[in-house]
Amino acid sequence: MRLALDEAERAARNGDVPVGAIVLAPDGSTVLASGHNEREAAHDPTAHAELLALRRAAAALGQWRLADCTLVVTLEPCTMCAGAIQQSRIDRLVYGARDEKAGAAGSLWDVVRDRRLNHRPEVVEGVLAEECARLLTAFFRDR
Ligand SMILES: [Zn+2]
Repeated sequence: MRLALDEAERAARNGDVPVGAIVLAPDGSTVLASGHNEREAAHDPTAHAELLALRRAAAALGQWRLADCTLVVTLEPCTMCAGAIQQSRIDRLVYGARDEKAGAAGSLWDVVRDRRLNHRPEVVEGVLAEECARLLTAFFRDR
């Protein structure tokens, strides 16, 4: 999560909402890919930290299926990213702060653990939650 927080800080430097993500290999410690929110930097509404990290991890592995990998992200994923997480078949999602306004992994929706879907990752929430939330609060306060 510390690495994801570093990524989040990179997003803020470009004027993007500070959200960072890391994908860990099946061994649980090798970093396969990282990403931070680049909506402003890339003029891309889909350039969320999680999507970029998932894409890069798949490219690094040479396969779209990210079974046994872990996605670590500073903020609870939105519906788009929850869909991508489901599509990637990733096995574990770890996130920091909850997003009560748009979260799709336990807050507003729980897309990733919807029993109607055939793949449901394990979800661990609240890791360094205060630090993750503080970054976001500071960003919006300073705007
Ligand atoms: Zn998202």
